[in-house]
Amino acid sequence: MAKKTQKGGTKGKTRRPRTNLIRGGVQRSNFQETSEALFLTSGYVYDRAEDAEAAFKQEIDRFMYSRFGNPTVAMFQDRMALIEGAEACWGTATGMAAVTAALLCQLKTGDRVVAARALFGSCQYVVTEILPRFGIESVIVDGDDLDQWKHALATPTQAVFLETPSNPTLEIIDLPAVCEMAHKSGAKVIVDNVFATPILQKPMELGADIVTYSGTKHIDGQGRCMGGAVLGDAEFCEEILKPFIRNTGPALSPFNAWVLLKGLETLELRVEKQSENALEIARFLEAQPGVSRVLYPGLKSHPQFDLAACQMTSGGTMVSFELGEAQGDDGKATAFKFENALEIIDISNNLGDTKSLITHPPTTTHQRVEADERARMGIRDNLLRISVGLEDIDDLKEDLSRGLDGV
Ligand SMILES: *Cc1c(COP(=O)(O)O)cnc(C)c1O
Repeated sequence: MAKKTQKGGTKGKTRRPRTNLIRGGVQRSNFQETSEALFLTSGYVYDRAEDAEAAFKQEIDRFMYSRFGNPTVAMFQDRMALIEGAEACWGTATGMAAVTAALLCQLKTGDRVVAARALFGSCQYVVTEILPRFGIESVIVDGDDLDQWKHALATPTQAVFLETPSNPTLEIIDLPAVCEMAHKSGAKVIVDNVFATPILQKPMELGADIVTYSGTKHIDGQGRCMGGAVLGDAEFCEEILKPFIRNTGPALSPFNAWVLLKGLETLELRVEKQSENALEIARFLEAQPGVSRVLYPGLKSHPQFDLAACQMTSGGTMVSFELGEAQGDDGKATAFKFENALEIIDISNNLGDTKSLITHPPTTTHQRVEADERARMGIRDNLLRISVGLEDIDDLKEDLSRGLDGV
């Protein structure tokens, strides 16, 4: 039987995405198991001393140490690359490890990063607090304002980092327009594609160079484990990202890679059904007198509905909304009453799960952000964000009505 190497088969390249979600990257062991094998091993043995020497000289391609190569992790990476249409992928321990590695592996003192304002809290911390400590300039723009991007990218820049749709206001960034300006400025574009998932949006087809995921979210999608991924071209992944990951160690555990592989098999079914439920919930909320605004890229009322329809195949699994007109402490009190009246939808800051989850961003995910910066991001005290799951839609609507009755 063929000797197993770190690189999976090329079979997937001729197969369709739906098949790759199920079979992409599979490398069977001698036991010919149906399901992907779980290789919980930190190291690997060499038949002869000469083999160890050859492996370290990189004369042979084989697994040496699970910090930078493990068969289960390799299956996950190969499957992710096939699904994304990327040349290569590295799995990481968390989504934040993916974002941090994607930025730090390629930046040095004196470099410049331009990022969108509306970022996941920890991504914002990395860009605005950690990078400047190493003498990397970080410039923040309003992601939906192309004039601000143009102005910021008039100065040579090394990296652009953004998230679309954004958290929690679900703003859409025009990827082809920003990528074109970024490339003229000399920058690589990194897109954090967590909210859209590889099912609903393919940033690389729209011009992005690097895509990151939190596997914790929709890819696992069942609230079990943490994980992440960085995808890019072969040269970036091999020459720039690999040495960083190999030597700094944000490795994905083989166990978690195995859970994520199983998650990928049902990713399309879950994401499509959850998006369908999300659209129905967005429409339902829009019709409620107690709800003053619904933010959902799949609703005609979304200011960037047309752009979202160009970039994404549906509006996604996340719905944000504002209650009443209340501001200040009243907004928070109203939002808390709403959350506390729910019986099915759980209060949780996680997302992408089969269980519907609700969070109050101003007091949780964006608590650390200064009040005036929060206001600039459009995060008001009466804002709630729901990650829509797979429960019966009528039960979810009834639960939301309970919330509204509680206000
Ligand atoms: C959750 C999330 C991350 C971080 O992922 P972890 O797996 O929690 O580290 C990054 N970006 C976005 C948009 C996220 O939702």
